[in-house]
Amino acid sequence: MTTSVQTSKKRVRWVKIPDAIRVMTEQYGPFEAEPRLDPVHELVFTILSQHTSDINSARAFRFLMEEFGSLEAVARGDVAVIEKAISPGGLAKVKAPRIKLVLTRILELNGALDLSFLREMPLNEAKTWLRQLPGIGPKSAGIILNFSLGMPAMAVDTHIYRVCQRLRFIGPKVTVEKAHDILEAKVPPEQVFQFHVAIINHGRRVCKAQRPLCAECVVAEGCPSRSKMMKASATKKSTARSNTKAKPAAPIMPHVPADPNLKDP
Ligand code: SF4
Repeated sequence: MTTSVQTSKKRVRWVKIPDAIRVMTEQYGPFEAEPRLDPVHELVFTILSQHTSDINSARAFRFLMEEFGSLEAVARGDVAVIEKAISPGGLAKVKAPRIKLVLTRILELNGALDLSFLREMPLNEAKTWLRQLPGIGPKSAGIILNFSLGMPAMAVDTHIYRVCQRLRFIGPKVTVEKAHDILEAKVPPEQVFQFHVAIINHGRRVCKAQRPLCAECVVAEGCPSRSKMMKASATKKSTARSNTKAKPAAPIMPHVPADPNLKDP
């Protein structure tokens, strides 16, 4: 189940995608299916989650829905009021007009904010439809289609991009945009969600951007970048090990909006 690569001295076995999904799910999972938002709510949540924490974006989403009651009302709403409602999520000045614009555009194109028709489209057509909307790139389209509609669309965030480069699931020069297509072609459709969540958990907890915890890594044996990363960490006199915690009780489930009805503690 591994790729064998002949080097001058020994055979190196690199971990393959199905094995990475399996061992990471064993380590960080199980990843239970969460109740999802409908696609247009997921779309708005995705905009709110850009460049902010899950907690703050969930709070902004809840405040937005408390203020307006429905996304139809948001589409008709005043940008300044939207901005005030979502201010806990950060970048409200950018996100408020973006949300109004995207909702208005959906209404122009579709006559309603119901995007469930996307499920009946071939995957590429559904992606193209979403990507005509302002501010919707391949990652946002992938999240909406995969998380909300259960379609096998890949969403590549910064963690997935980094981990997949280190594990050579994608090449070092592949752009993040291109990575969507490459990974979508490599991952079995029924495992796209599992792959997404497993790799994000691995990236957030172990294969971190600055100081990957290679000594803790469940795929270290098959990682082509391990030696290089461990050398880099050693020269930095990393304190990473002291930051390592026991496995948290619950897996990280990215892009899962908190229940908008939940109140802050
Ligand atoms: S061995 Fe290190 S670089 Fe490779 S996947 Fe694990 S944590 Fe990341």
